[in-house]
Parts: sequence; C-alpha cells; structure tokens
Amino acid sequence: MISPLMPNYNRIDIVFDHGEGAWLMTADGQRFLDFGAGIATSSLGHGHPGLTRAIAEQAARVIHVSNLYRIPQAERLAARLVEASFADSVFFCNSGAEANEALVKAFRKTMAGEGKPERYRVICATGAFHGRTLAMISATGNPKYLAGFGPAVAGFDHVPFNSLAAARAAITEETAGFLVEPIQGEGGIIPAEENYLAGLRSIADEHGLLLGFDEVQCGMGRTGKLFAHEWAHVIPDAVSTAKGVAGGFPLGALLTSERVAKHLVPGSHGTTYGGSPLACAAGNAVLDVLLEPGFLENIVKKGERLRMGLETVVKSEPEVFYSVRGQGLMQGLVCAVPNTQVQNACLSEGLLTVVANDNVLRMVPPLIVGDADIDTALTWLAAAARRCRPSSLSVAAK
Ligand SMILES: *Cc1c(COP(=O)(O)O)cnc(C)c1O
Repeated sequence: MISPLMPNYNRIDIVFDHGEGAWLMTADGQRFLDFGAGIATSSLGHGHPGLTRAIAEQAARVIHVSNLYRIPQAERLAARLVEASFADSVFFCNSGAEANEALVKAFRKTMAGEGKPERYRVICATGAFHGRTLAMISATGNPKYLAGFGPAVAGFDHVPFNSLAAARAAITEETAGFLVEPIQGEGGIIPAEENYLAGLRSIADEHGLLLGFDEVQCGMGRTGKLFAHEWAHVIPDAVSTAKGVAGGFPLGALLTSERVAKHLVPGSHGTTYGGSPLACAAGNAVLDVLLEPGFLENIVKKGERLRMGLETVVKSEPEVFYSVRGQGLMQGLVCAVPNTQVQNACLSEGLLTVVANDNVLRMVPPLIVGDADIDTALTWLAAAARRCRPSSLSVAAK
C-alpha cells in the first residue's frame, strides 16, 4: 500500500527530535554530528538563539501579508544584500528552483526589453543542478531528472563545465546568457577553474549577453565570502541563492544589476509567499551573524582546518578516497568505493554527511561549526573509512 507521504524520497530511518549547534539528537538520546546541514541549508546550525528568537518574535507579530503591501523586513534584507554584494536589486521567493526560474525569466525579459526578444536561450553546464521545476530540470539537463516528464522545456543549451571554448562555440543569435554554478554542488563539489568565471564574463560582454551564477548552494558564506564568485573577482548580472539564506526557513532570492532589475516591472513576475515578514526576519537574523566582523574570515580558517584534515584522511585511506575538492565549508571527497557505503559507515559513527553525483561524499557543516566539532568529524570519518577499505571488507567476509 502506498504511504500517505509520497514515496519520492529515499529516507534514512532516523527521526531527529531537536538540535544544538552542529548536533542533532534523537528522542532516545543518540547524538549525531551534522556535516550535511540539511543539504548545506542549516547555515547557523540548530537551535541558534538569534535565529529562533527572530522567527518566534516575528511569527507572534505577523507571519504573512502578501506582496500587495510594503514589507519592511524584506526591504531591510534586500538593502543589506545589495550593500554587501554586486547587486542593485533583489527579488525574494521561496526556493532555489524558483530563484533560478526568476533568473531565467529575468534574462529573457531583459533581452526582450532591450529589443532582442529572439534572445531567449540560456547556456548551462553539464553536471549542473538548478532545481526540480519543469524548466529547471531542463536547465539542469541531467537525463536522470528529465526521464518520464515529457518534452524538455525549450531554451537551454548545455556545454561542458569549465570549457570556455565550448561556451563561446555554443552562442547563437538566440542566446540570452550563461547560467553556471561557481562550485557545482549536486554535480559533485566541482569548483570552476581559475579563469572560467572571468572568461565567461568577457565572452558575455563581447556578445552583449548576461552572466548568471547559481549560488543556491555555494552562496551565503559557505566558501568564506558572501558569494563564491567573489573569489574570482567577477561581476555577474544576476545571482540566485536559497538554501542557507534563512538558515533553513524557506527563502530564495534573485540578486541582479539594475540592467536586469529594471525590466521586472509591476505585474511581470511574482509569488504569494515570497519575501514574507517571517522569511525575511529569518534572513535578517542569518545576515546578522554572517556580516559580523570576522565571521566570513573565520569560515576560511575553519575551511582550511577541515580541508587539511580531509587531505590527511584521503592520504591514509587510498583504497577508499581518491581526492578532496571544494572551498571553505563546502568540501567533497571523491570516493573509490560507493559513496553511499562511506555515508552509511559515517552514520554508524554518528556523523551525518550527504552524497553527491560523481561518487562524491559532501562535507557541508553549519557555518557556525567549531574547531572541536571539525576534529571530531575528521576522527569519525577516518574510523568510517577504515571500515570501508575493500581489503578489510574481504577479510571480514572470510
Ligand atoms: C539545491 C539547489 C537548487 C534547488 O533548490 P531548491 O530549494 O531545492 O529548489 C538549485 N541550484 C543549486 C546549485 C542547488 O544546490
């Protein structure tokens, strides 16, 4: 018999009762160190006093009013994001897929507004992940996510990630711009190479095209900058973000330059929930922490500690891991055994991780993770890896 909760997820049979910092607890007292953070989303960890207070206080005042009225919490959050980034203007929605939908619509609308309505196509990268709406599975382009859902939505072309030659060759009279992740997340924590993002900027400028970055996963402090593209010193036309932006409360955002934002005139795009007082109160509470002096710099330091530890584990477990890649608190281990096997071994040690494509195990802890928790995670990962060695497995089987 079908379960009342639709069977579209493969859920691990654990129920968490509450959490504190980087830890999640079950009702019967088991403790797990959360290096998955709800898929890179619980940016302030669990039970964060500032975030929970902001949500509770705002919920008691007013949760939702709709975008028929002014929303000071959204005005403040937008102004702070503009102040801290390349952007001139921000649109709020409720998820990463919606932020990307808004980005693609904004690209098309900008081209139409600039007198080139035939330029509606967006060039995306293979290995990308942009979400699960009908258009975003087409932008993603992965046959695994498209299968069974009928014809792909038109308007997306795909080129190999990190190839500037391929990006240039894919441009036609119908191209509006590019959309790539500065670090591919679901694809397996694959960072853009040194000159890739800057190269895309130059190509876009040569052809009058728009450059968009999907920072739903790598944005909002995860790499030690507010946005990952800042490391490449590139100024995009649009950036989508979501996941960590409100610490686990549903919120997505599209940040754009004025060139793009001015075409999003009243009535052109919208959402009922997007940018509600409650969601934006949560977003502001997250920014309170991220923008504290030294907080982002500290993520760089913690990222280095995690990275050095992971490199040591990779070196001592060559049968289990090939390599480690990523930036800041967004690291991926390329596994030599099935990534789910390592994930399960970690789970039995008490360490929560997330798998990604390309047989990668993701380590994406809350941004508030402490050094002691990083060291504990590394110890448990090493213990899990020892049990995943093909040699020790065959010994165990005898
Ligand atoms: C998770 C993710 C999305 C989709 O976000 P949802 O909130 O699940 O719709 C889009 N892009 C990237 C890079 C992501 O990691």
